[in-house]
Amino acid sequence: MNSKNYTHAIMFHHFHGLGHPQVQGSISGVEFEEMLDWLSSRFTILSAPVYLEKLKKESLRPTDICLSFDDALLCQAEVAVTVLNKRNIQAFFFVYSSPLVGKPDPLEIYRYFRTVEFSDIGQFYNEFFKEAEGLYDESIFAAKQSYDSTSYLSAFPFYSESDKWFRYLRDQVLDKEKYDFVMNRLMDRYRFNQKEASTKLWMNDDHIRRLSEAGHIVGLHSYSHPTMIHKLSKERQAEEYVANFEHLSSVLGHNPIAMSHPCGNYGDETLDILKKMGIEVGFRRDSSVTSITSNLEVPREDHANILRQMKQ
Ligand SMILES: [Zn+2]
Repeated sequence: MNSKNYTHAIMFHHFHGLGHPQVQGSISGVEFEEMLDWLSSRFTILSAPVYLEKLKKESLRPTDICLSFDDALLCQAEVAVTVLNKRNIQAFFFVYSSPLVGKPDPLEIYRYFRTVEFSDIGQFYNEFFKEAEGLYDESIFAAKQSYDSTSYLSAFPFYSESDKWFRYLRDQVLDKEKYDFVMNRLMDRYRFNQKEASTKLWMNDDHIRRLSEAGHIVGLHSYSHPTMIHKLSKERQAEEYVANFEHLSSVLGHNPIAMSHPCGNYGDETLDILKKMGIEVGFRRDSSVTSITSNLEVPREDHANILRQMKQ
């Protein structure tokens, strides 16, 4: 196990069980426990506050790691936290504010809709294609003439024909507005309640307050989770983090001191903003950088990579 000296933190997203559906990459509470056992036999899992103290004092040992959870997903509070409490491990939870203040992220909603309303992805594609053709008949007809299925996304051989055609329509033919329109029509057709879905997808202010009271560290993850925050102007980046900071500090009753970079993206300006806010630790999304270059750039290993290593 060569890579073990390079693991600093583990990043988790979706969990299933207790009413939360299985989605791509999700793990159950039992799998989470197995993973913690596997990790404990190789590393020392530190509680978040201890990890932060040792990071600041530069006294982390190569085998010290911490656990972190992004995106304020309710499945984390209901599936993972039960396990954490049982083992008395405090973790980092990174919260983006928009879903908690009534502006849910459409991508997460779409994923949930696909999962709960359709028996498989093929059935979803059929309905999506029908709906899109009904609305944008002419542009889709034209797209069919120019579409070359052998060359499109040929770098991803695991994509089916429908996977590719769906992505072509979504990314090349329909713009975001039209794509959202098709999805909304489809959700209406299925009488899918987006508001209700969002209460099942995300934590609310009470959940994050309870996490903090239980000793977990709740930190920033931007306001609206831009996919490429480093491409925004410095002012827009500051707005994202200030709004997130204000929301969390009012709920928690203290200032956040930790954060993770949404989609792993940041630039020098971002780090400057975070430093001025008094943020003491920030996490990357990947482990392509193997050492901690600054306290605002701690690499993390995706839990999917840990699962892969466990199976080896
Ligand atoms: Zn995120």
